[in-house]
Amino acid sequence: MGLDIRINLPKGQSTETYDVVIVGGGPAGMTAALYCARGRRNTVILERNMAGGQIALTELVENYPGFPEGISGFDLSDRMKRQAAQFGAELREITTVSSLTPDPDGSFTVTTDQEKIRARTVILSPGVEAKRMGIPGEAEFVGRGVSWCATCDGALYKGKQVAVVGGGDSAVEEGMFLTKFADKVYLVHRRNELRAAAIAQERAFANPKMEFVWDSVPRRVEGDQLVSGLEVQNVKTKELRSLPVNGVFFYIGQVPLTAFLQGVVALDESGYILTDEVMRTSQCGVYAAGDARANPLKQIAMAVGEGSLAAVQAQRYLDELECPSSGPAAAQAAAAAQAAGAAPEAGAADAPGHEATAGAPGPEESTDAPAPVEPGAAPSSKD
Ligand SMILES: Cc1cc2nc3c(=O)[nH]c(=O)nc-3n(C[C@H](O)[C@H](O)[C@H](O)COP(=O)(O)OP(=O)(O)OC[C@H]3O[C@@H](n4cnc5c(N)ncnc54)[C@H](O)[C@@H]3O)c2cc1C
Repeated sequence: MGLDIRINLPKGQSTETYDVVIVGGGPAGMTAALYCARGRRNTVILERNMAGGQIALTELVENYPGFPEGISGFDLSDRMKRQAAQFGAELREITTVSSLTPDPDGSFTVTTDQEKIRARTVILSPGVEAKRMGIPGEAEFVGRGVSWCATCDGALYKGKQVAVVGGGDSAVEEGMFLTKFADKVYLVHRRNELRAAAIAQERAFANPKMEFVWDSVPRRVEGDQLVSGLEVQNVKTKELRSLPVNGVFFYIGQVPLTAFLQGVVALDESGYILTDEVMRTSQCGVYAAGDARANPLKQIAMAVGEGSLAAVQAQRYLDELECPSSGPAAAQAAAAAQAAGAAPEAGAADAPGHEATAGAPGPEESTDAPAPVEPGAAPSSKD
C-alpha cells in the first residue's frame, strides 16, 4: 500500500467518520496509527507541524532498541511515518487540533484549523514543548541567538561560543552536539552536579570544549540585534557574571500541549493527561499516550509502548462500543478527574479499569523543575 498523505485540505466539515483520529504525529501517535491501520481501522493522524514530534529535532538517538549504532532522529521518525502509511494510515500535516467535543451519539467531533472531523474514537498524543525561562531577552532574541533546538540551529554557531542551560539529558546531549560547531559550550546549571545519564556525563566531562558553570542561573540574555552574552548569577555567592556567547539554548523542562483538552479529559495539576494503566482517559472512547500523558518516563521507547497499548484499547472499544461501568478502578478514575477539575464523562466516571496514573513528571522534567525562588529574586531560576 502506498503513502496516503493529505495536506491542507479545504476548510469545512469532513464527510468521513474515522474509526480512529490521532492527535499528534510524534512517536506515540505514529505507533498508534501503525497498530490501528494494521488492524484495518480507518485511521488519520492530525499533526500541527510535520510528523516526527520531538525526535525530528534530535540529532542522534542512541537508546532506542534495534539501532546499535544509533539513528538520527529524522531517520527514525521518517521510518515510523512510512511504516504507518504502509498500512494505510492517513497523515494530515500542518493541521492543528483546537478542540475535541463528545457528541450525543457517542462519537466525537475533532475541530482543526482546517475543518471538523468525526471520530468514533480518539487517541491523544500531543506531546510536550520546551518550557520557557521567562528571563529578559529570552523572547526578544528568539531566532537571533535564543533557541530550544541544537539540531536545528547548531550549525549557525560554527567557530562561536554558546551557552546551554539545564542539567538533564537533553541539556548535556545537545550541549555535546553543539561542540561539533562551537569553539566553546558553557553548560549553565543551578546545582553543582548534573542529572543526565552517567554515560552522557562522562562524555561531557571529557570534552575540552565544554565548560561547566555550576550553581548558576541565567538572569538576562544580552545583545543588540543578535545575542552577545548571557548574564548568569551564582546562587551561592550571588555574584553576577556575563558569559560571552552568541547563542543560548534552553533545556529546562517541558510543558504538555494539552490546553485544548481542559474540561474534556482529566488532567493533572501540570496539565498532563491522566489515564489508567491501559491508557484510558476519563472520557470513554478517548485514549492518551506518550509525553503528554502523566507518566514517569519521557522517552521514545515509552511513547511507542503507550501508543501501541492505546491503539489496542481503542480497537477493543470500537468492537464493543462500551466502557466498563463499575469497579474500584473506576472510582479512582472519577476521583482523579474530580481532583483535576475536569468533569468525567457520565459512564466513564463509573468505569472500572480507569485507574488514574498520578502525574509523576519524567526525568527531564523533574531534573529541570524550577528552583525555589528567593523572595525578591527575579526572575525565577530554572535549570
Ligand atoms: C532535544 C531532545 C532530545 C531527545 N533525545 C531523546 C533520545 O535520545 N532518546 C529518547 O528515547 N528520547 C529522547 N527525547 C524524548 C523523545 O523525543 C520524546 O519522549 C518523544 O518524542 C515523545 O513522543 P510523543 O509522540 O509522545 O510526543 P512528541 O514527540 O512531542 O510529538 C507530539 C506531536 O504532537 C503534535 N501536536 C501537539 N499539539 C497538537 C495539536 N493541538 N494538533 C495537532 N498536533 C499537535 C506536535 O507538533 C508533535 O509533533 C528527546 C527530546 C528532546 C526535546
